[in-house]
Amino acid sequence: MNMNDAAAATIEPVDLKKAEKIAYENNKLHKRLCRQVGQAIGDFNMIEDGDKVMVCLSGGKDSYGLLDILLTLRERAPIHFDIIAVNLDQKQPNFPAHVLPEYLTKLGVPFHIENQDTYSIVKRVVPEGKTTCALCSRLRRGILYRVAGELGATKIALGHHRDDILETFFLNMFFGAKLKGMPPKLQSDDGKNIVIRPLAYVKEADMERYAQVKQFPIIPCDLCGSQENLQRKQIKAMLREWERKFPGRVENIFSALSTVTPSHLMDRNLFGFAELKATGEASAQGDIAFDEEPCAPPTAPNVIRFDGFGDLPD
Ligand code: SF4
Repeated sequence: MNMNDAAAATIEPVDLKKAEKIAYENNKLHKRLCRQVGQAIGDFNMIEDGDKVMVCLSGGKDSYGLLDILLTLRERAPIHFDIIAVNLDQKQPNFPAHVLPEYLTKLGVPFHIENQDTYSIVKRVVPEGKTTCALCSRLRRGILYRVAGELGATKIALGHHRDDILETFFLNMFFGAKLKGMPPKLQSDDGKNIVIRPLAYVKEADMERYAQVKQFPIIPCDLCGSQENLQRKQIKAMLREWERKFPGRVENIFSALSTVTPSHLMDRNLFGFAELKATGEASAQGDIAFDEEPCAPPTAPNVIRFDGFGDLPD
């Protein structure tokens, strides 16, 4: 055995083991994503038999991942639904217009490219140095709603994930003084469409990894030169810091978004405080006037897990 053979003999099993481990982890990730997306779709009745789902594809990691996972789930679904991918070409300088059509054609997915020069409008209206994303997304939304109608789509699927939902929640609270997030399913503001967010339970980090594994041909969303909103950046950093220092906290906050007790908040439109009378009957929903253990520390950190989506065995 020469030296090269000896080297190959020692390296190969290690490489093989490494490759197997990577394949195992990738498979686990794919299963987790499918499970979480399937669960969100089921929990919120996002897709029904006969639906035509318009998947909005921006060229970013999240929308590629969304389309990919929906295509997988459609094969296994007990119902029939159609998928059409739609991209809005906003005529940003250097936008590689061939990338998405090539990708979608290869995938065999029906698609539509809508050409609308929102870039010029944004550049004209927003003063130099100001964030352009708010106007840009508003214009984009209006166009996509119209296109959905023209294509006969019954649902509009967007690629927002768990982290987007949490960031929006804190943005609204910190800067808008509102307890308001980004719902997994809602009626569009023109009242004509149902918008769904099947990635609602999915962590951004998983979408990032999935995009690497699948090698999606990512098109950056900063061709316009716009910087990510500073406030959103701050919130992102805050959540990341919490995740690092207090594992489980972010998941608990996310879980809290679906465990709301209007009678224990202060919104008079959500709960009839004015009409509230004592019924004389005990109620588990009633107030505990003095919390029994107001300052009791948790017995162990992270004992409260959110409803199991991230914790199920793969
Ligand atoms: S980064 Fe550019 S293209 Fe993306 S939302 Fe903001 S303004 Fe629009």
